[in-house]
Amino acid sequence: MVQVTELGYMGFGVKKLDEWKSFATEIIAMEISDEGERDRCYARMDYWHHRLVLHADGADDLEYLGFRVAGPNEFGEMQHQLSAAGIKFRVGSEEEAAERHVLEVLKLSDPGGNPVEIFHGPEVQYSKPFHPGRGMHGRFNTGAGGMGHCIVRQDDPAAAQRFYTALGMRGGVEYKFRMGKNVVSPIFMHCNDRDHTVAFGIGPQSRRINHLMVEVDNFDDVGLTYDLVRKHKLPVMITPGKHSNDHMYSFYFGNPSGWMIEYGYGGRPATHQSEYYVEDMYGHRPEAGGFGTEKEPKR
Ligand code: FE
Repeated sequence: MVQVTELGYMGFGVKKLDEWKSFATEIIAMEISDEGERDRCYARMDYWHHRLVLHADGADDLEYLGFRVAGPNEFGEMQHQLSAAGIKFRVGSEEEAAERHVLEVLKLSDPGGNPVEIFHGPEVQYSKPFHPGRGMHGRFNTGAGGMGHCIVRQDDPAAAQRFYTALGMRGGVEYKFRMGKNVVSPIFMHCNDRDHTVAFGIGPQSRRINHLMVEVDNFDDVGLTYDLVRKHKLPVMITPGKHSNDHMYSFYFGNPSGWMIEYGYGGRPATHQSEYYVEDMYGHRPEAGGFGTEKEPKR
């Protein structure tokens, strides 16, 4: 079975592009790369051409997730695998691949309606060392684990689990949370040593995306970012703490689109065996808005 190897890039629609540019650089420490395109700009976290595309289209939501496969052979095999699983896709044109700065791209959609792209051959710019948007003690932890992880909306978590399994991911329930009268059992899927790359099943969400987690390789960058978030009076949604599943020390804060960034350090490698937890190791208390799982009307 061919497997996707990492979450390589993501696209977001934003209302306030200028606000996002200062947020991405001054708070998250990403590097903005503006290539003069009127409708978008790019955010870098490492040598890649980009990890985020910010589209100035007002959506304030996820526009696509880009999952990598190793190379052209796997790209071909993945198409057979998707067909065998009854998943519809189309092969992107040369222009569509060039738009994403990859060699080839497939376009499809997951059962929750989140646009998914499967690509190989990202443009990597070794001539352009990553230059963080503000001082950083270390660097973003990308590498073989990809750019991070995200929680996305799925109305049918079992169907979503089948979909991401067909992409070569593994995973299942890792938490059973009591929320009022209900028990929420989110599903966490991994495709490399990162504990999870995509997760879902947290209950109703007003947006496609709940949060994007980026990881740094120096603990002090979490403290620095926390101070900056407080200084800029951005909403802290979940206070610092440590998750039981990925052992990530992290906190969550609101971005200019109203969904969350999780800023983390020290995640442990995936155990590749199922376990579940009913609470985190410590911390992670809800603050402004909490985890964003309150019942909100869908947009
Ligand atoms: Fe997370």
